Amino acid sequence: MNYTLCRCYLGGQQRGSFMDDASHRTQNSSVAQQFDVIVLGAGISGLVAASILSAEGCKVLVVDEYDHVGGNHINWTSNEGYTFDIGSLIFQDDSPLLRHFPELLPHYVPITPSWGRLNPQGVITAYPISVREDILGAGPIGLTRIFASVLYARLFKRSMSNAKDFARFWIGSYLLHRSGLETYMKRFYGVEAEEIDIDLARKRMLWISEYASVLNLVKRAFMKRRSAGPKNRQMARPREGFDALYLAAVKRLERSGVTFKLSAAMQRLDKSQDGFRLHMADSTAIAGRVVSTIPIPRTESLWGIASLQKLHTITLISLYFSFSGERGFDQSIIYNFSHDGAWKRLTVYSDFYGKVREREYFAVEVIANHVASPAQAEANFRRHVLANGMFKGDLKLEGSQVLESAYPIYSKGAATNAAAAIARLQALGVESIGRQGAFNYQPTARVSTIDVEVAMASRSSALEFNSRVR
Ligand SMILES: Cc1cc2nc3c(=O)[nH]c(=O)nc-3n(C[C@H](O)[C@H](O)[C@H](O)COP(=O)(O)OP(=O)(O)OC[C@H]3O[C@@H](n4cnc5c(N)ncnc54)[C@H](O)[C@@H]3O)c2cc1C
Repeated sequence: MNYTLCRCYLGGQQRGSFMDDASHRTQNSSVAQQFDVIVLGAGISGLVAASILSAEGCKVLVVDEYDHVGGNHINWTSNEGYTFDIGSLIFQDDSPLLRHFPELLPHYVPITPSWGRLNPQGVITAYPISVREDILGAGPIGLTRIFASVLYARLFKRSMSNAKDFARFWIGSYLLHRSGLETYMKRFYGVEAEEIDIDLARKRMLWISEYASVLNLVKRAFMKRRSAGPKNRQMARPREGFDALYLAAVKRLERSGVTFKLSAAMQRLDKSQDGFRLHMADSTAIAGRVVSTIPIPRTESLWGIASLQKLHTITLISLYFSFSGERGFDQSIIYNFSHDGAWKRLTVYSDFYGKVREREYFAVEVIANHVASPAQAEANFRRHVLANGMFKGDLKLEGSQVLESAYPIYSKGAATNAAAAIARLQALGVESIGRQGAFNYQPTARVSTIDVEVAMASRSSALEFNSRVR
């Protein structure tokens, strides 16, 4: 990274011009603090934005209503000493996040995760699809039906308007049902596959078309695959949780002049001649620029405007279990592709960090659209894993967490509605980016980092261009 030019402009004025007026006062007469940029949200996107801006020479304030840095990288530790998290724990050593914060690297735990999937036939098999179990295992009649339905879809179902159309075109409706993929899509996205936007399907389900190419299927079924070896190293968050990890990032940013305000009681965001003003319960901050990485409806409510359209998001219930007994699978991560059970994925932490008091421990993610409460989610999970022989022994719920706005639901029209809301904020001068701010399903911190870099770079080039032509 080599950011030397300070790009903290306010509508063509150089940084600092609005700061020369020293008479900014809050309603309770305390002096307002002045910055070049206010970044809303201290998740991955907020941290990367602050890193880029401070390297450009900006005086940055990062504000979060949460009491911690790392956004939705949230962990929870039980009295017994098990540390769980809501589900985000695997990272890569070649992530661009490490270019911004190289001191994170030694905090991660190198791991060799393995992924599996419970299929509708009750078998734990390869993720995301197993040629042996799902295709060859269908038997001669099943195989005929699979190929007939693929042929039918390729010939007669070529027009695609939703995720189901997309998946059916590639693998046919018979395999779509038999593999459990259709059920998993509903479990994952929170709505029926027919209601999921085709653009998201194309973006997020590219692997289906890759798997479904005839050449690939033949290779998978009959040839010994030569492993190219992992391109990068997989790593888990520190055993004790995210705090130590992101403290290292905070220290780096603070050394370069970034100010953090956590547990902030944000009340209002507005704009006057001297710039944007963020009113909080105990203070006011003023800046020439606001970069928002928090949920769009929250930014709208701070600005005092009603949402144009409701942007639907997934509420995630995370169940935290410890276990002693016989486990019916070897993989560390299992996806639920069966037609029953509300749970989506489970991750066995003790595979990465070792057992605690001789007990294994794992987290289960459940989409709250399918169950009303953590208690219901637990009962549903217990029933389902018992029926599938996954845990025989003492299964104890240690705790649970509920997270709203975990990720966007891409029902049809959602992307257009989000774009309209982001454009409206942009017209007010607020740059809304990141997983929450751009209403963008970013699967990894790596993707979030790249997206923020792109968003900040395009804004900087636009400003440079404007200042040249002015
Ligand atoms: C269940 C799950 C599992 C994941 N697994 C992985 C993984 O293994 N590896 C990986 O690299 N990435 C994973 N990710 C993705 C990764 O977490 C995101 O890419 C990254 O956290 C996005 O950061 P962000 O700053 O854009 O947004 P966020 O961290 O989502 O949020 C930014 C800010 O928005 C505000 N905010 C968010 N939600 C709310 C709310 N409900 N109410 C009020 N304010 C809110 C907070 O101020 C927060 O700091 C996972 C995400 C989820 C939800």
